[in-house]
Amino acid sequence: MKTLNSKQSLYVTLGIIIVSTVLISMSIYTTYHYAETKNKIIEKMKETSTVTVSSLQKNVANLIEVYAINEYEKLLVNEIEPRDIFAIVIEDFRMGKILGKKSYISGIIRDEKGHVVEIDPKNELQLQQLHRCYYSDQYDIKSTSGENLGTIRIYISDATMVRELNELILKAVINIIAVSVLLIFSLFMAIRYFILKPLSDIVAVIVHSDDGGIPINFVPEYDAREIFVLSTTINTMIKSIRDSKIELLNQHNELRAQKNALQYQATHDALTGLANRVLFSERLEYVIAKSKKQHTQMALLFIDLDHFKEINDSLGHEAGDKVLTIVTQRLRETISNEEALARFGGDEFTVIMEGLQDLEEASRLADKILKLLSEAIVVEYKELYVGCSIGISLYPNNGDTSQDLLKYADAAMYAAKNEGRNNIRYYSSDMTARALERVVMETSLRSGLKNEEFVVYYQPQMNGKNDRLIGIEALVRWQNPLVGLVSPAAFIPIAEATGLIVELDRFVMKRAMGQIAQWHNEGLKPGILAMNLTIKQLQQKDFIDFLHNLIQETGCVPEWIELEVTEDQIMINPEEAIKILREISSIGVKIAVDDFGTGYSSLSYLKKLPINKLKIDQSFVRDLPNDDEDAAITKAIIALGKSLNLEIIAEGVETEAQKEFLVQNGCENIQGYFYSKPISAEEMKKLLLKSVH
Ligand code: C2E
Ligand code: CA
Ligand code: CA
Repeated sequence: MKTLNSKQSLYVTLGIIIVSTVLISMSIYTTYHYAETKNKIIEKMKETSTVTVSSLQKNVANLIEVYAINEYEKLLVNEIEPRDIFAIVIEDFRMGKILGKKSYISGIIRDEKGHVVEIDPKNELQLQQLHRCYYSDQYDIKSTSGENLGTIRIYISDATMVRELNELILKAVINIIAVSVLLIFSLFMAIRYFILKPLSDIVAVIVHSDDGGIPINFVPEYDAREIFVLSTTINTMIKSIRDSKIELLNQHNELRAQKNALQYQATHDALTGLANRVLFSERLEYVIAKSKKQHTQMALLFIDLDHFKEINDSLGHEAGDKVLTIVTQRLRETISNEEALARFGGDEFTVIMEGLQDLEEASRLADKILKLLSEAIVVEYKELYVGCSIGISLYPNNGDTSQDLLKYADAAMYAAKNEGRNNIRYYSSDMTARALERVVMETSLRSGLKNEEFVVYYQPQMNGKNDRLIGIEALVRWQNPLVGLVSPAAFIPIAEATGLIVELDRFVMKRAMGQIAQWHNEGLKPGILAMNLTIKQLQQKDFIDFLHNLIQETGCVPEWIELEVTEDQIMINPEEAIKILREISSIGVKIAVDDFGTGYSSLSYLKKLPINKLKIDQSFVRDLPNDDEDAAITKAIIALGKSLNLEIIAEGVETEAQKEFLVQNGCENIQGYFYSKPISAEEMKKLLLKSVH
């Protein structure tokens, strides 16, 4: 593209056109006028010479006839003086004859100063002047008889003509200049007013543009049709460009908003608005890199809700969502830096703590979270207790990659869960092995169920006053072909987490109920059969039917059967537990609250629960009778049970002293190694046989 400077202005072009047009027309006019003037002058010369000759011819003829040379020369002078004649030459044949020549030449001529002098035929200069004369005319001089007396020649010089023509040219030039100036000026003004000014106004407006090159203002509209069309067209164009620009801008903004929304959706959890796993992973990488650079420590907290699945299964997803929202709200209130918090998965949350001064900071925050989440969550007027388990891994102590830190925090969380939930654990290297075990365990649990590798052991429950058997508790064992007998503590949490517990417990129920029915048939008296069930089992829609059918199939009497549900599981959603347990007790099956004293039962719920028995948790029994606090709690539980008309049983009783303390304080039912460890069916049968005899 050429630059603006290389372009010629319209003013210059128009100037050239106007000037040349005026010049050409004026020169044509002048040329014509020149020629005309010239012709006129020549005409006038002719006239002058004819007039002169007509007056002279006759007079001169008379004078020639009388040879009065001097006279006709005087005549000539008279004739030449008033007229614009250069010279008059007379050829006198008569005088010539006398002088012996063809003719006698005489006449007058003007010298340089314009004075009239006689012609000298020998004067070369005069001859040349005559020769060069612009106009000459020759006439015959005749006598009255018609004889040829001579000739008369009139010379008229072009001096006047030249002068006149020069004057003409001068006038013409002046005129041309004046007219041209006037014309050019008026043309220029007209063009300027009607064309150039509107054009440059339009240009000025167009040039004044915004960043995007779009004119800021509309161009003015003029009356002249073409300019009007031009300006309205330009205005329409400006408007449509502006509109398109606005539309484009809107589209751009919309696209950007959509992009942001998509980006947000891709990186955030729709329910809680927290960062999701994707964003969390990015942030973790970033914080690790930052900690590396600044040589600071960081902690990763992996939080898993303890009883979320149960709530979700029993109350539905909507309630589950509400619980998650409330949990998120509490976490947000505790964790000042929102960026640090993420929802990792279903009921899993993560917290990144960067720039740790001391590791206690992580424990303090974890404690706070633990406490906050163990408080009741009210959903649909129900008090729910979710609780959580927290695993912590540290950079750089445990690892320096995001994968490792995540894996370790997860393993630590599982360890916390295994230790009875509502717990915090820091990662230690042996947890990785356990995490691996867990994965292996899940697959082997499934095959174990298929291959019926599970066996039921029984632990007697005795009356501590008279040492008589009152019942037995069924406790599952895993007879693993590779590692032998596996304790429930190792696989029950995994069975619960994977949902395999439902199938496993039904297997135990079939076995145990079949077994006691058989013993009853054999005349043995095993007493009450206590079985451990998770709340998840009770929540199964077909559970009542299943229990009912099993009672009929095995030939058990409902009164023989007691289901143990732990206190903390009841307290996850006490209202629902009350409903389910009522249904169960309505068919005559008894219910015991296992591990009583460890949960957060409130008296109001306890009163409403259709339970028959409280089972004092072994943790209170362990240090009896010497631990004052445990003694006090135990006494309190016994008193509470009595006041609610409930049976009381203590578990984990290992010593005589423990048994004595309990019995003396009103808890006669005793279970524990003091009497017997859990034993196989055969051993149990032997024991039953013994007690019969
Ligand atoms: P739990 O229901 O509290 O069972 C009592 C546990 O205490 C049993 O452990 C038992 O062997 C142990 N125990 C009994 N007397 C004593 C004692 O004097 N001293 C000590 N130190 N321990 C004693 P076990 O059999 O390892 O079971 C552990 C837990 O696994 C049970 O605790 C129960 O919650 C769960 N569990 C066992 N069997 C089943 C089952 O069939 N289904 C379900 N859902 N859970 C089961
Ligand atoms: Ca139990
Ligand atoms: Ca227990």
